[in-house]
Amino acid sequence: MRWEGNRESDNVEDRRDDEGGGSPVFGGRSIGIGTIVIALIGGWVLGINPLTILGALSGGAPAHVQTHQGPAHKPPADDHLARFVSTVLADTEDVWRDVFRQGGARYVDPKLVLFRGATHTACGTGQSAMGPFYCPADQKVYIDLGFYETLKNQLGAPGDFAQAYVIAHEVGHHVQNLLGISAQVDRARGRVSKVEYNHLSVKLELQADCLAGVWAHHAQNARQILEQGDVESAMNAAAKIGDDALQRASGGAVVPDSFTHGTSAQRQRWFSTGLRMGSVKACDTFSAQTL
Ligand SMILES: [Zn+2]
Repeated sequence: MRWEGNRESDNVEDRRDDEGGGSPVFGGRSIGIGTIVIALIGGWVLGINPLTILGALSGGAPAHVQTHQGPAHKPPADDHLARFVSTVLADTEDVWRDVFRQGGARYVDPKLVLFRGATHTACGTGQSAMGPFYCPADQKVYIDLGFYETLKNQLGAPGDFAQAYVIAHEVGHHVQNLLGISAQVDRARGRVSKVEYNHLSVKLELQADCLAGVWAHHAQNARQILEQGDVESAMNAAAKIGDDALQRASGGAVVPDSFTHGTSAQRQRWFSTGLRMGSVKACDTFSAQTL
């Protein structure tokens, strides 16, 4: 991916050196790239059953939480990976500002928070183990950059464009938030069965994949960011974080009703649809006949 020298965003908040402390707050809901991903990874790293970790994630209290006080500070200039995500974020800002303007609306930039371990969010305590996620309540994307090591080494998805896809997917959730789509899905919570809610969650996630593709489409047109093998690396990442692939990799049975993010094939298809079409309308996973 060609990105060196492109604009970096001012909306990056570096909390990686913040002191710990404070008490965790639970509540709200955040949307990640896949909780199962993380439970699985945690399982590998810690050598315990992923389901135990899932239980701990939803019920347990973290020991150490970063607090954030005072003004946000930017990552150091010599931090290559931080500069990379900052440049990708800036590119999503340029694309989505344009797309919203053309649709007669105004795009509000999200913030990107870099943290280590755990940090406070308006959706409760964010933990590295959850993987990158977006919190609608504070309009911030949270990422522990260590996730990229996991993506490359544990999940077998290397490549900078695969890393960019992760950011673009989370920004896709921000776009859904601005468009009121996530709120509609959230309202269905508790009113529909668990299985039906999971299906809605899959549609929301596949739409975020498609919106990541829409970003890539416009970024490519405007700035020719793509290099040989880039699209393949993102498609590979989409496949590696499909629910079926993760369930299979964790040694468990593949249970479609438990899917919350979509299969590998679906994630690839929707990212590719967004990339090809470059329009939000093409990302209507909610009225699509087939996912
Ligand atoms: Zn997601």
